[in-house]
Amino acid sequence: MEHAPGCVYLVGAGPGDPGLVTVRGAELVRQADVIVYDRLVNPALLKLARPECELVYMGKEGRGPSAAQREVAARLVEFGRRGRKVVRLKSGDPYVFGRGGEEALALAEAGIPFEVVPGITSVLAAAAYVGIPVTQRGLATTFTITTGHDHPDETESAIDWSALARSSHTVAFLMGIEHVEKICERLIAEGRRQDEPAALVRWATRSDQEVVLATLATMVGAAREAGIQPPAVLLVGQVVRLSEQLNWSARRPLHGRRVLVTRPREQADELSERLRALGAEAIETPTIRIAPLATFDALDDALRRLPEVDWVVFTSVNGVEATFERLDHLGLDARAFGRVRVAVIGPATERRVRLRGIRADFIPATYTSEEIVKQLGPRLERGSRVLLLRADLAPSHLATGLTARGADVQSVVAYRTLPDDGARTELPRVLRERRVHAVTFTSASTVRGLLAALDGEVELLGGALIAAIGPVTARAVEEAGLRVDAVARDYTIDGLIRALVERLVAERVSEPGGHP
Ligand code: SAH
Repeated sequence: MEHAPGCVYLVGAGPGDPGLVTVRGAELVRQADVIVYDRLVNPALLKLARPECELVYMGKEGRGPSAAQREVAARLVEFGRRGRKVVRLKSGDPYVFGRGGEEALALAEAGIPFEVVPGITSVLAAAAYVGIPVTQRGLATTFTITTGHDHPDETESAIDWSALARSSHTVAFLMGIEHVEKICERLIAEGRRQDEPAALVRWATRSDQEVVLATLATMVGAAREAGIQPPAVLLVGQVVRLSEQLNWSARRPLHGRRVLVTRPREQADELSERLRALGAEAIETPTIRIAPLATFDALDDALRRLPEVDWVVFTSVNGVEATFERLDHLGLDARAFGRVRVAVIGPATERRVRLRGIRADFIPATYTSEEIVKQLGPRLERGSRVLLLRADLAPSHLATGLTARGADVQSVVAYRTLPDDGARTELPRVLRERRVHAVTFTSASTVRGLLAALDGEVELLGGALIAAIGPVTARAVEEAGLRVDAVARDYTIDGLIRALVERLVAERVSEPGGHP
């Protein structure tokens, strides 16, 4: 391996959005033998770790005793001594009030090699996301980051309050919530204007980010009214006014929405990334998994005799993958298709066969198997031999429909969809934890997988909106006794997202005080 063993990396995990870790930080997380992390680190980042990586939680809740900090340092030294590649993941930047300096000193004293990977501090992230340029020509040329933990009412405070109050600097307070009242009072007492704008930002960059805009005089009441809890940063200064014009993050169409992605894990990425880009928190709880067949005899036989058929029909990306994996196993490749014509159900399947070197000869105008029957049926000659390479649970209407049109149809199972066992614990946990605003279904089998995982407890879905990729999936939702709130017009991931956005934005407009 290229890395030096026995090194401790103090890595800034960024403010919360897993996209805001550095490339170097993510690379180290992927390579680590051990990851020591704390409460504010987004668990989504830990998913990058290798399965055999040891994950050690060492958070201190609130203001823990300093023994806890000594213990963290001791553990880092110990892991380092054992020659392991240790990542100490710290929220934001490791050296901004993260006590990273103390950990680095302990490592230096013990002679353990260490490196520091800076991170985006929560202060800068909060300012950026809510539209507060921390310096701005004419408003602020100095920017101070300090802490609210330094007992602002005590005279021995190490903070020069009068300097903070007299200047027009932008001042950011970390860990400030418990002391908001004293911070604001002290700044006013030392001469800062009562109407100086201030912003409190909780969980900056995450989908549950909350913001309170007020002034030094009104912040305490406003924060109390909003019920803001830690972790939050307090930003004070004239630049805070710019938030009104520059708060882009709150304007994203899915800002603050938690959306479940029920597709199999390997296929979830595209949908999750698109949802996140629109401001949502995408929670991956796969309800099904794609599994190889238990026996391959029928599939192998069909693939060996591929040149004898006139058409092959693929109704999913999984079918394409399973087919080509098996062809490869048999020592064959795309040439086995020879003159066989290929029909696909939609653009994703079309792209996948193209990646495998085949240009589809047919794609229906709307992406359902009913449309394949309607549009491909008339193009088939009597007795045309059609091979369907499908999922074990696929409904039979494609086969019966094409047979009714005179085709000689052979229906072969290429892969299985099984319930994802992890969903049985994961799904109820996620649904109980916090409100989920929407659930996405990309196939009827994901609906059935969800039902199996909830074991009858569908009321756990609460008021979550249900979005389906197309009519067949929507029917499966209704058959499950659930209400479908959004159905894609275009039966693709794009179409699904568009339908969901329209529905959620409409809902937001109708909320009291809501805005699009
Ligand atoms: N090293 C961290 C700060 C650690 S101290 C950094 O650079 O951000 C812990 C404090 O950080 C919290 O009390 C809170 O004030 C702030 N904080 C961390 N993550 C935050 C987030 N996502 N949103 C708002 N504040 C956050």
